[in-house]
Amino acid sequence: MTGPQALPNILEITPYKGGQKLVGAHKLSSNENPLGCSAAAQAAVVEAAKHLELYPDGSASALRDAIGAKYGIEPDRIVCGAGSDEIFQLLGRAYLRPGDNIVQSQHGFLVYRLIAQQAGAETRSAPEKELTTDVDAMLAQVDDNTKIVFLANPNNPTGSYIPFSEVKRLHAGLPENVLLVLDGAYAEYVRKNDYSAGMELAGEMPNVLVTRTFSKIHGLAALRLGWAYGPEAVIDALHRTRGPFNVSAVSQAAGIAAINDDAFQAKSAEHNDAELLRVSEAVEKAGFKTYPSVGNFVLIEFPDEPGRTSSEADTFLRNQGIVIRDVNVYGLPTCLRASIGTVPQNDDLIAAIEAFAKS
Ligand SMILES: *Cc1c(COP(=O)(O)O)cnc(C)c1O
Repeated sequence: MTGPQALPNILEITPYKGGQKLVGAHKLSSNENPLGCSAAAQAAVVEAAKHLELYPDGSASALRDAIGAKYGIEPDRIVCGAGSDEIFQLLGRAYLRPGDNIVQSQHGFLVYRLIAQQAGAETRSAPEKELTTDVDAMLAQVDDNTKIVFLANPNNPTGSYIPFSEVKRLHAGLPENVLLVLDGAYAEYVRKNDYSAGMELAGEMPNVLVTRTFSKIHGLAALRLGWAYGPEAVIDALHRTRGPFNVSAVSQAAGIAAINDDAFQAKSAEHNDAELLRVSEAVEKAGFKTYPSVGNFVLIEFPDEPGRTSSEADTFLRNQGIVIRDVNVYGLPTCLRASIGTVPQNDDLIAAIEAFAKS
């Protein structure tokens, strides 16, 4: 007896590994909000905890109303999920089957590949230029079997972004039956006049979906909460594939409080502006290349010289009580990704990198 056998494409999946943590160490490995979350969101969780016996509102209508009001978009064209991860899973279920493919950028977010594998679909990766999405290369990967094009903008782990004019050019080059997913997990951190999360495209086009998360600037990663906005037919398909109560009542309550707490979001973005710049400059000064980032993290490149490599840096930093992210699985073996932490955490990170440079 060998027991039940999962499908071959499922057994080929390498499970996603989250950022590691070490007891007592600074965890700068998962792009979490170093300031925590909104106090109002915390209070909402405590309040919601008084009625854990009740099923949540399966349609998350109050949360969708709050999101709609914040962004000036129609709540009926929003679907909520247990993190944007779940939204990606739903997309896979609704749009992908064996023989199909998805297109992503070379160093695109790992989860896109995983959902393609689950569906038995192929992942086609477009080469990047200077660790930035190349729209022409993306379009060159699209064929008759392409169902979804995923663009994380800004991208994780590179921290790069493409301007809205380029996003529009990508969209214009796609057939109407191909869904363009604009993953805006870090959209709130971007301070560039030529950037847009693409809400207006998702509002107008039949084949553009924007995904957003409460895990990053809102600091609610523990609760698993994300959402998507797009064409009615796509939102309808996602509703059909989701579980009836996919978002907990606690998450919904926290999400409403968080989305309305503009002061906390502003404080988080301002902290990131100052600290991203400070960390990047200090790392450069210590002699290591950083890639320009518009997110809440920075990609650091280490030389391929004994004593100075990324894996030696990783070990060194761990010994100093700092955990950052190994990005080998993203095809970036010479790099490490550091999330921006609190001021004292960043002080320690900078000191450790300076010490590594001299070691
Ligand atoms: C962190 C992140 C997300 C958010 O995932 P959740 O499931 O909402 O926590 C989505 N996309 C990218 C590129 C990310 O880095």
